[in-house]
Amino acid sequence: MLVVMQENASPEQVQRVMDRMIHDGFDVHRSTGALYTVLGGVGRNTDFDIAVFEVLEGVKEVHRIGSPYKLASRGFRPQGTVIRIKDVEIGGNNVVIMAGPCSVESRDQIERAADIVAEGGAKVIRGGAFKPRSSPYSFQGMGEEGLQLLRHAADRRGLLVISEVMDAVQLPVMLQYADILQIGARNMQNYTLLREIGKARIPILLKRGLSATIEELLLSAEYILSGGNYDVMLCERGIRTFETYTRNTFDVSAIPVVKKLSHLPMVGDPSHGTGRRDQVPPMARAAVAAGADALLMEVHHDPDHALSDGAQSLNPEQYFELMKQLRLIAVAVGRSI
Ligand code: PEP
Ligand code: MN
Repeated sequence: MLVVMQENASPEQVQRVMDRMIHDGFDVHRSTGALYTVLGGVGRNTDFDIAVFEVLEGVKEVHRIGSPYKLASRGFRPQGTVIRIKDVEIGGNNVVIMAGPCSVESRDQIERAADIVAEGGAKVIRGGAFKPRSSPYSFQGMGEEGLQLLRHAADRRGLLVISEVMDAVQLPVMLQYADILQIGARNMQNYTLLREIGKARIPILLKRGLSATIEELLLSAEYILSGGNYDVMLCERGIRTFETYTRNTFDVSAIPVVKKLSHLPMVGDPSHGTGRRDQVPPMARAAVAAGADALLMEVHHDPDHALSDGAQSLNPEQYFELMKQLRLIAVAVGRSI
């Protein structure tokens, strides 16, 4: 249930409505917009009379939410969510570029990557320290040492850090070094992990699972939001289809669909979306044109010798050229980079 309060509702009126919702068995989540306060009531109580809430003082309107996700729905925050991290806003007018190697490999590699991505205009550097690899024999990441190197490289250039957390036991160490935690495609339905990060107070980038529907993605986001962590962005990173030319099929349409159904910022990852560096630029351009709030892209100073995902990592020249093109596309759709 969503209770939209009147523009001039007093704090006491808001409190009385919240008390009544709690009394009736709802967990209450509050969203304060420029005009209206919206109270999201979630829980297992489906047998309630909307009129009871409609007649309370200060209430503008009450909606029963048909979709299984409530806090992730657009109605909870019609104005959209803007996630603020230091001086970077994700979900605002600027399209934020997050770029860097698939994995942190060495001090030299990540320092070079930081130079390249900062020069091109990225605001966030990516780099995995805990890697979910399909084969147990592939490089598994540098762990905490990798995070230290990543943080150091980022701080020298004023970049934010995004890195993947694979398991709740890694949370304490991740929180020391990262500004944004990535939940990888393989963990989108790891509900224990989602509940744990719902309790944390750090922005989350939640990737769509390899075979997840958009509704399942939004339900996974709901796990995090219902824990009280509202700083969640979603990411289209390609899904499994019968096509084999590309590593995954980049579902560009998921971007406007999520933006319509949800208030959460939407990110495009054309690197995992295609698996081939020749196809990353066109899909990156498409993602910005389709309304993505940010892009997550793999860039490596020497992709042919990368320890993971080299085939889909842009080399510096490709990255610089793409950034020029993205700036033009962003302007064409009323945004900036
Ligand atoms: C990654 O970002 O390097 C990664 C492993 O992503 P995904 O979870 O989308 O496969
Ligand atoms: Mn990767």
